[in-house]
Amino acid sequence: PNPERDRLLQAYEWTAKFYHFLLKNTEHGKAAMDYLRSRGFNDKVIDQFQIGFAPDRWDTLVQFLTKRSFDLHEMEKGGLLTKRHDSEEDYLDRFRGRVMFPISDRNGRIIAFAGRILGEGQPKYLNSPESKLFNKSRILYNLHQAKPSIRKLRQIVLFEGYGDVISAWEAGVQNGVATMGTSLTESHAALMKTMADEIVICYDGDRAGQAAAMKTIPLLESISLNVRISVLNDGLDPDEFIQKYGADRFNRQIIDGAVSTTKFKLIYLKKNHILLEEDGKIAYTKEVLPIIAALASSTEREVYLRELASELQLSFESLKQDCNEIRQSMQKNM
Ligand code: ATP
Ligand code: MN
Ligand code: MN
Ligand code: MN
Repeated sequence: PNPERDRLLQAYEWTAKFYHFLLKNTEHGKAAMDYLRSRGFNDKVIDQFQIGFAPDRWDTLVQFLTKRSFDLHEMEKGGLLTKRHDSEEDYLDRFRGRVMFPISDRNGRIIAFAGRILGEGQPKYLNSPESKLFNKSRILYNLHQAKPSIRKLRQIVLFEGYGDVISAWEAGVQNGVATMGTSLTESHAALMKTMADEIVICYDGDRAGQAAAMKTIPLLESISLNVRISVLNDGLDPDEFIQKYGADRFNRQIIDGAVSTTKFKLIYLKKNHILLEEDGKIAYTKEVLPIIAALASSTEREVYLRELASELQLSFESLKQDCNEIRQSMQKNM
């Protein structure tokens, strides 16, 4: 038994309900509600994800918790409040003027919040600090709700952001989770491995997102998870893609159409080269041949070599010869 932990869990549960109520039923919440609607979040997902609003005041939550006899010092340590700089005993709301996304553990108990500013401003997201309850490197947003779908499909769709998970859920993808604004850790990967055989990495289409996807591949493949990767163009993130093109196209093009890791690497590396120029063609080939040469299956190697040959207007034979030489020198070095 751990009474302090239980009190904190209780406080998080009630605070989430309180913020959700303020969003839906008060004057304070109106602007936040308009903001959420403008992003395409309907009432059903606002309830499902228990989205809330923390008013832009210093003591809304302080008063709520005080009325319910919570120890404010404990609540400050637990990340719901902050301390005034000039005082030992005065506490202030940590989250002010933010749309609140409750973060649950895998059993559905709320252990943290992510608060998004309305519109533009810094920081865009404010997270609860790490606490006895909340360890970012182990938590995956929405895992508790996604579990049934994950178990059924043996597949997880991994997103970068909360909004991506929520919009995908609205679009029918209910096996989606996200990290807490950090890169995927080994313990995230190990946790996913206990529930699924395949991960679809569905990161933002900007350079940062695609680079993060590249980094995540070896971590997942090292524990024998099958990996496929969504290719988003024009820098869109999954949420923006859904708002722009709709649920059907998202399911078909982005989820079902997610590509193999090899294909993704070829697409990713291509962006660094101008393939119409000889130098570009040669440099690109030098980067991708080792990736193809490392594939264990000769059928797979042939598939990618043929694609490359036709794309670069080179002969399959010369690519294959170079590939074989690289493969031989790789094997010598092993
Ligand atoms: P939105 O759609 O609400 O604008 P996003 O999820 O698309 O947000 P990104 O800028 O793509 O935001 O960042 C991806 C994720 O990284 C966020 O969902 C959040 O978890 C995290 N993140 C982004 N900016 C910050 C920040 N300033 N502080 C903490 N975490 C952040
Ligand atoms: Mn991004
Ligand atoms: Mn994004
Ligand atoms: Mn977004």
